[in-house]
Amino acid sequence: AEGVVSPEDLDPLSRVSFPPCMRQLHESIRKTHHAKHGTRMQYGLFLKSIGLGLDDAVRFWRDEFTKTMTPEKFQSHYLYNIRHNYGQEGKRTAYSAFSCMKILSGSVGAGDCHGCPFKHNSQPLLKQQLENYGIPLLGIQSIMDFVSQQQYQLACTKYFEITHPSATVEVIYHPNQFFEMSRKIHT
Ligand code: SF4
Repeated sequence: AEGVVSPEDLDPLSRVSFPPCMRQLHESIRKTHHAKHGTRMQYGLFLKSIGLGLDDAVRFWRDEFTKTMTPEKFQSHYLYNIRHNYGQEGKRTAYSAFSCMKILSGSVGAGDCHGCPFKHNSQPLLKQQLENYGIPLLGIQSIMDFVSQQQYQLACTKYFEITHPSATVEVIYHPNQFFEMSRKIHT
């Protein structure tokens, strides 16, 4: 599916079809023009899987990062890592995007944006985020009920249901599955 999504598509797609873990990363990169390693891995591999080709990925990250650093620094510090995600460097492995289980079990430190918002964000921050994403109060309550029971993927499934009222819903197990289920009703 490489090349079916371009950097220009990412703002609207992130609002309509990204799961919260990826929307949060996209918004953070647009805001800070930077991303730590955990974010570059989690988001970079997701973008590759939804069809952002290597040249477009380089363009996306370069346009953001060079708002706060020189092109030379981008080139020497970050380009390898992006190409590596696409299997163009190192062992040339075709890395696949992280599943929910992998994201949920990863370590997330203070100041990191990666991870799963349902698990790794504080409850007040998560509620605020859901409100900003336009989830009605009752919906936020039912999502938070799952969060309190540590049923993070069910919380995400509820979020999907609320934001995609006409879709057929499966339990969320992968950010790319969330994205594909969403695109089914939006394209
Ligand atoms: Fe992302 Fe999975 Fe968490 Fe949903 S449950 S926000 S898809 S990691």
